[in-house]
Amino acid sequence: MKKLLFIFLLILSSLSLFSQELSEGPFPQLIIRGVTLINGNGAPPIGPVDVVVEQDKITQIRTVGYPGIEINSNKRPKLKKGGKEIDASGMYLLPGFIDMHGHIGGESQGADWDYVFKLWLAHGVTTVREPSGRGLDFTLDLKKRAEKNEIIAPRIVAYTSFGQGSENGIKSPQEAISWVQQNKKNGADGIKFFGADPEIMKAALKENKKLGLGSACHHAQMSVARWNVLHSARAGLTSMEHWYGLPEALFEDRTIQNYPLDYNYQNEQHRFEEAGKLWKQAAAPYSDHWNSVMNELIDLDFTLDPTFNIYEASRDLHRARRAEWHEKYTLPSLWKFYEPSKVSHGSYWHFWGTEQEVAWKNNFQLWMTFINEYKNRGGRVTTGSDSGFIYQLYGFAYIRELELLRESGFHPLEVIRSATLNGAEALGMDKKIGSIEIGKQADLILIEENPLKNLKVLYGTGAIKLNKDNKVVRVGGVKYTISNGVIYNSKLLLDEVENIVNSAKEKSSFTIKQPGD
Ligand SMILES: [Zn+2]
Repeated sequence: MKKLLFIFLLILSSLSLFSQELSEGPFPQLIIRGVTLINGNGAPPIGPVDVVVEQDKITQIRTVGYPGIEINSNKRPKLKKGGKEIDASGMYLLPGFIDMHGHIGGESQGADWDYVFKLWLAHGVTTVREPSGRGLDFTLDLKKRAEKNEIIAPRIVAYTSFGQGSENGIKSPQEAISWVQQNKKNGADGIKFFGADPEIMKAALKENKKLGLGSACHHAQMSVARWNVLHSARAGLTSMEHWYGLPEALFEDRTIQNYPLDYNYQNEQHRFEEAGKLWKQAAAPYSDHWNSVMNELIDLDFTLDPTFNIYEASRDLHRARRAEWHEKYTLPSLWKFYEPSKVSHGSYWHFWGTEQEVAWKNNFQLWMTFINEYKNRGGRVTTGSDSGFIYQLYGFAYIRELELLRESGFHPLEVIRSATLNGAEALGMDKKIGSIEIGKQADLILIEENPLKNLKVLYGTGAIKLNKDNKVVRVGGVKYTISNGVIYNSKLLLDEVENIVNSAKEKSSFTIKQPGD
């Protein structure tokens, strides 16, 4: 009898397991009830609120009561036939996150889009600006399939690497202009620059701005002595990536970075080690020059997309490579790509030690001071991850970026705004996404913990907490991500990622080993 009961319970529990769907919807109507709303517009949390979504549009946001007081059901929006309700009492609702720097994954990383997209969505990322990857056609194809919900994917904003497709590179301003015009015709949303000759940068940026497309630039060291962030901003660049080119704009007692005389740009340790000494060579915080560069960039409505997290291994390699999510969610091919190498980009650990990390810690402080003050003076700072390099895993690294903005001095509400409305503004999409407002698209995150109190609850692995019985539990992890009308069960997305990783490991009987072990 006991055995029968056990079998019955087993069937029941497996049934309830299967009743959880990876994705549901779109629904003619979806009502999220009794939630606490944390918007991306800087407003403080408010609840209980009922939010009504029809297909993919937010149609009502109604405050339905007071904390701890029973809600009068007569005053709540009514569910239509065929509609779906989520009882979200005790939960928090945020706008979907915007990753301003999300490479879908290159061949050297061996990360397929399916794996990357699931990691992003599982962390609430519903819009990704792809700053050039496997080529525009590849990205546009995924973008279109995502729009039609043919694949599990966030909204994609496709930027092309400047000059891509031109056989001998762009050699003149006229060639630059034609390339920019063709890029728009090809359907791109913008351009990602890495720097070029001043005349070419000027012509390309001017034309691109005229056409109304976005632009991003990683000011690579090979061109930065003649063209830094300030030149770009004046010529019409809409956002700078990472931080290169900014200290150069802030130089006072030099015009070129203090390169050691045996420096070689093709040596990755040289690149990253010397970069760690760069902010110290720039004007001091709050000095006249520092102030005037900052104020000019703000006047130009220029966006900073710092991607702090992708440099974190420079200040703490151990932390980055031992992150607890690697075991479950990092692909063998990615792990191999991260390993110290003279060839892989960003695998600069030829001999990375205390000296390099201390220099980078100081570098971070000066950099963070600039970013925080830029925000305080009204400048736009966005959230970008640049994952797939330097031990930074898609999705997880985005949440780490939020923590690093917090470390820079942002209030958690400022962090959320940076991850949502600021990104939407920078992409020129703030009429459609970036905050929870009537008429906007329902890009939404639901989570059972308050992320303002602890951003770590947003990690797919959750946050560690001791409960009242002195037992260690994991709390949080995004519960649902709502994107393009579809409700995704974020934990099941992560289970799928784990399956992808496990089958890749089985194929090569791979286990994660630390470098040199
Ligand atoms: Zn990048």
